[in-house]
Amino acid sequence: MTNLTGKTAVVTGSTSGIGLAYARAFASAGANVVINGMGAPADIEKERAAIESDYKVEAIHSPADMTKPAEIAEMIALGENTFGSVDILVNNAGIQFVSPIEEFPIEKWDAIIAINLSSAFHGIRAVVPGMKKRGWGRIINTASAHSLVASPFKSAYVSAKHGIAGLTKTVALEVATHKITCNCISPGYVWTPLVEKQIPDTMKARNLTKEQVINDVLLQAQPTKEFVTSEQVAALALFLCGDEAAQITGTNLSIDGGWTAA
Ligand code: NAD
Repeated sequence: MTNLTGKTAVVTGSTSGIGLAYARAFASAGANVVINGMGAPADIEKERAAIESDYKVEAIHSPADMTKPAEIAEMIALGENTFGSVDILVNNAGIQFVSPIEEFPIEKWDAIIAINLSSAFHGIRAVVPGMKKRGWGRIINTASAHSLVASPFKSAYVSAKHGIAGLTKTVALEVATHKITCNCISPGYVWTPLVEKQIPDTMKARNLTKEQVINDVLLQAQPTKEFVTSEQVAALALFLCGDEAAQITGTNLSIDGGWTAA
């Protein structure tokens, strides 16, 4: 069992889906957590308070917008000033948009690259000095099966996810002698708001019904014919934070029901 008592984890995009599962997994191992993301204030406060009461750790919320580099640096500073260190950074915030490339809105391209890729660069840039000083750190980036393979109509998302896989490898090499690891996790489809929201646009782009999108596009990609769960992804992240994973760095770990093996 990974023990994170005394450590602090910052998880971007952790007000829902996979990010929330990461935050809860780290808290269950004893870490204090900085959650981040959008949503109704009452919902965010409910999740934050539940983490504290379920796991007897401290949880705070950073409202940092992942399109704003200064706010990302402030989020890391908030963690360091509140808890004394940020030992684990998970770059997880993400959005999706589905459209044929010739109609792909330029502002959607810019937002996806900013939130799904550039925010990780800014977060890593801000967190590494403290990790180097303390001689320990874990950086985990949520990539995707789309960091390895493409799907039509997801040009920005696929580009951002391929980019984060490259960023992961580069950072891993730069910090390797400081007992800091940097890896990415590449889930297949997980039933979260991100996936649910892309269904209408996928129906339109591919001329399919909702059931066809779910069965013939999403589940069809995964040989297991099952969705991955957020908790399964979070368990992998927790493993990466343990001493057993100290020599795992620069990798892209697939958890995709066999999608990218096929
Ligand atoms: P989700 O929609 O449930 O969660 C996304 C999170 O990002 C939310 O907390 C949201 O508030 C936050 N966010 C969005 N824009 C933000 C911004 N500008 N600033 C701060 N936070 C912002 O989606 P999810 O499926 O849990 O996605 C989490 C990550 O997992 C993403 O990087 C996504 O690409 C990746 N992923 C998801 C799947 C899947 O099938 N769900 C598969 C592979 C990878």
